[in-house]
Amino acid sequence: MAQREIPYKIYLEESEMPRNWYNVRADMTKKPAPLLDPDTCKPITAEALGKVFCEELVKQELDDTNRYIPIPEEILNFYKMYRPAPLVRAYCLEKKLGTPAHIYYKFEGNNTSGSHKLNSAIAQAYYAKEQGLVGVTTETGAGQWGTALSMACSYFGLDCKVFMVKSSYELKPFRREVMRTYGASVTPSPSDTTRVGRQILEEFPGTTGSLGCAISEAVEAATERDGYRYVLGSVLSQVMLHQSVIGMETKAALDKYGVKADVIIGCAGGGSNLGGLIAPFMGEKLRGEADYHFIAVEPESCPSLSRGKYVYDYCDTGRVCPLAKMYTLGSGFIPAATHAGGLRYHGMSSTLSELYDEGLMEARTVKQTEVFAAAEYFARIEGILPAPESSHAIKVAMDEAIKCKETGEEKVIVFGLTGTGYFDMMSYEKFHDGKMIDYVPTDEEIAQGLSKIPNIEG
Ligand SMILES: *Cc1c(COP(=O)(O)O)cnc(C)c1O
Repeated sequence: MAQREIPYKIYLEESEMPRNWYNVRADMTKKPAPLLDPDTCKPITAEALGKVFCEELVKQELDDTNRYIPIPEEILNFYKMYRPAPLVRAYCLEKKLGTPAHIYYKFEGNNTSGSHKLNSAIAQAYYAKEQGLVGVTTETGAGQWGTALSMACSYFGLDCKVFMVKSSYELKPFRREVMRTYGASVTPSPSDTTRVGRQILEEFPGTTGSLGCAISEAVEAATERDGYRYVLGSVLSQVMLHQSVIGMETKAALDKYGVKADVIIGCAGGGSNLGGLIAPFMGEKLRGEADYHFIAVEPESCPSLSRGKYVYDYCDTGRVCPLAKMYTLGSGFIPAATHAGGLRYHGMSSTLSELYDEGLMEARTVKQTEVFAAAEYFARIEGILPAPESSHAIKVAMDEAIKCKETGEEKVIVFGLTGTGYFDMMSYEKFHDGKMIDYVPTDEEIAQGLSKIPNIEG
């Protein structure tokens, strides 16, 4: 296709929106390792998964073969309220950096929840509703996932019970109140409303909680109630599948203008946004149709891909969830209190882990002060106030663009701008006041987390 002049913002028409999610597992020769039942350590059955998760979502979780999964009409209609998300050509940033590189970012912050998480929340709520459930339970760390899920549940008239990591519950009252505005009930975790919560409180009195612990509580709350299932905002293959809408739109928009990406960058927490963004491009790479350089960006304080091990591990502290083979720092690893709460998970999507293990992707770590410096630089030039999580990708995109300045290469760099930072102003305040510290876990700390990993062949 002939190269057309690229506008600042590329929007797709509604009619050009993807009508399918893309399942990258279908194109993988070596599939991600199966989830294991925590009781038997054997591959978990659909039946066992169905006690925790919605039926249709279990099917998607176990589906390694269907390349395209049609997006149901009702989800598509909800998507239309805030999608397609713009793909922005960062002309102003390019100019400021003086780089010959062409920089694009896919902005997922154009909805009230402020991030990409709504893409999967609405899908998961839809399938829960279809199954005739009363409600769902979940955990939230910084609050982005809980916010997205409460929006999705209120749309479909479902009850939504959110276990929010206690430190965030206390420090981030705004997100908590957004969730309640959408009708969710929010419980600080660990709480005395679940057995596992009470256990953790007994063992670690005064703890301010962790994501892994909130997951355990949410799972228990779902399985002990009729008409409830548990839903998760990242890590699982089904979530990455729903997030493929990001990549499908990005690819459609680039194709529309005859642009071929060279480098694709995203931040990696549990791996769903990055996995979703790169999915259709990775598919081309796997099928030998095109090549791309993919970069997963992690915080130096929680380097799951960069310093973790590729083994079976528990997904939660309470060890009630299925085990996944993934790059992990150990389910007992408690990362330092970084300001990118969405990237503090000890493990990583098993699909992304497998792709990384096969050498199809690079992982890079960045320090949080340099992340905030990049965030501020970006905000002043491109206008958008980015989430700290997203700013990990900004930092590496800028690094890559600066390299192009040195080599004179006109690379096309695409990165995922996953959300806005309005609720993170206390972190920005720390940065502005020079009170932010960079924490790098020592080898001993990493080794200690890894030493708690169960010994399972796989
Ligand atoms: C949750 C979150 C992330 C992390 O996403 P994963 O899909 O788990 O990697 C990144 N950015 C924002 C803004 C988030 O809210």
